[in-house]
Amino acid sequence: MKNLCNRYILICFLSLLIIAAISFTTTTTAVAAKQIITNKSKKTIVVDPGHGGYDIGTKGLGNTMEKNVTLRLARMLAEELGHKYKTVLTRTDDYHLDLNSRTSVANHLKADVFISIHTGGSFLHDADGIVIFYFKEIEERPISRDLYSSGADNVWHHLQIRHIKASGLLAGLIKKSIYEHKLYPKVIVKNSPLLILEGADTPAVLVETGYLTNPSEEKKFNDPNYLQGLAKCISIGIERFLLETSHEE
Ligand SMILES: [Zn+2]
Repeated sequence: MKNLCNRYILICFLSLLIIAAISFTTTTTAVAAKQIITNKSKKTIVVDPGHGGYDIGTKGLGNTMEKNVTLRLARMLAEELGHKYKTVLTRTDDYHLDLNSRTSVANHLKADVFISIHTGGSFLHDADGIVIFYFKEIEERPISRDLYSSGADNVWHHLQIRHIKASGLLAGLIKKSIYEHKLYPKVIVKNSPLLILEGADTPAVLVETGYLTNPSEEKKFNDPNYLQGLAKCISIGIERFLLETSHEE
């Protein structure tokens, strides 16, 4: 009777071990599957702080330099977006980077959005407003048929064309978000044949975040709360854009 009882306990123990092993394998598989889904769904945003190094950009009357404002704001924006997306800065410090290298970062990473940050500048000290640019095609540039040329440059010029509609939508959603948060009263969306946008093979915008040459706007650029608010508004616009366009993939 005692032997029978021991055998019964052993069988029960072994069964429990088998059940635990099966359950562990299932859970591990489920976790692995979830991770794959999460990684696949993690969108990539490339944020480009304009200028850098010897290229200081615009300079305000109070000596605030555009290259520093753009880096500060880009870092804040990357922080905001980093909670939900993989976010990459084209430059992380004060050094020079040419235009094509900036766009190349987005193309190389197959980014879902490319956003370049700048400030405006004008000899008119009362010029103000935020301008959000998306690309405008100026002329039909034929793909090179030259046997001695790879045609790579021509292809580069055509990369943004198929994203123009999406880029316009992205610009509009960032504008809407800034208005909704009453952060700034004058936001304009414009299309323009900007070099920084033409080689981006993804929806792309350039945000000129106000005029550094306007003393009252320069003051705002030195206010971390204002920059943080701006970063929040831009990130909300990007998030809405990604939600709105995700079903089209
Ligand atoms: Zn600039």
